Amino acid sequence: MCRGGYPSIMAIVSSNSERFKSESLAPNQRVIDPAVLPEEDSLFQNDGLRPSRLSEFIGQSDIKKVLNIAVQASLSRGDALDHVLLYGPPGLGKTTMALVLANELGVKCRITSAPALERPRDIIGLLVNLQPREVLFVDEIHRLPKIGEELLYPAMEDLRIDITVGKTSTARTRSIELAPFTLIGATTKAGAISSPLRDRFGMTQRLEFYELEDLQNIVIRTSKLLGLALSIQASLEIAKRCRGTPRIANRLLRRVRDFATVQGQLSAIDKPLVDKALELHRVDSRGLDISDRRLLHLMIQDYGGGPVGLETLAAALGEDAVTVESVIEPFLLQIGFLQRTPRGRVVTQIACKHLDFESEEKL
Ligand code: ADP
Repeated sequence: MCRGGYPSIMAIVSSNSERFKSESLAPNQRVIDPAVLPEEDSLFQNDGLRPSRLSEFIGQSDIKKVLNIAVQASLSRGDALDHVLLYGPPGLGKTTMALVLANELGVKCRITSAPALERPRDIIGLLVNLQPREVLFVDEIHRLPKIGEELLYPAMEDLRIDITVGKTSTARTRSIELAPFTLIGATTKAGAISSPLRDRFGMTQRLEFYELEDLQNIVIRTSKLLGLALSIQASLEIAKRCRGTPRIANRLLRRVRDFATVQGQLSAIDKPLVDKALELHRVDSRGLDISDRRLLHLMIQDYGGGPVGLETLAAALGEDAVTVESVIEPFLLQIGFLQRTPRGRVVTQIACKHLDFESEEKL
């Protein structure tokens, strides 16, 4: 743990903290936000960067092995692929994997997201129009309303939907047969899915944050697709700063491309250029941005490094607790800069080292 309150540290922190306060960015403006930005709208449009075959899908080797066997088996039987639940943080390739699987199966992938399936007729319309063996991809499946879930149960299990026709006194239930299909559900919150729905998926796979080498390969692949001349060191630098997330890697690369364009250096993008471009966006060598650093500085300066309760922290930062918990904290926890304890959040030694603070075991 890291001890706050050193005079030298205080000086750095207080000189920085006013700056951090005024420069705080709204979460949706963060260049390192793993959620889709409007300009990227990768859910409904192909962003041109997605791999289309399993062999082009970089990393996630265990998941690829499992899914490849399942695809080959269902192709040889002529069946639909079993239903698949993909979970993991945003930007790791869940939508991409669904599109890849449909490609491997040689069928169309219908893409939707649970918030768009509010009314029963939305989901019924989608299901009855599916052709044999097609893939239905439902993003954010944990947000499906109860009534939608209940329609899905018999659809997934028995390839039928039960609908009620007529008014209360004369109402009767009618079953509609469906073509064999594959539901691929994606979620960032596997725990929020009801267990009856979870149990109906034949395969549940968790996507992990990517290794550095895989991220570098993703950056190299994207730079080729964008026609950029990127040095190996430059690709490594972007990989180091993208928080283990391909979507952020691609986004940082686009910001580097903007910078290189303005600097007239598109033909030779090297590490110093990447450093300057990402400095402009305040993304540091570990992928931390101003909001992350502000949170860590505040915990050290005002709370001696913690423990600090989430609500207290959110109030001190002037953010709401949900934003702190779902947007700022997860990456800091993942890289071991923050720890959760029963008494609250604690800044770790490695975070202090990264922020150039002296650190020592808390007494
Ligand atoms: P998710 O659905 O998990 O939020 P996406 O599938 O939309 O993530 O992926 C985000 C971006 O990252 C896409 O532009 C995609 O091209 C890229 N991407 C994701 N995974 C990979 C991968 N394994 N190899 C190459 N690019 C990837």
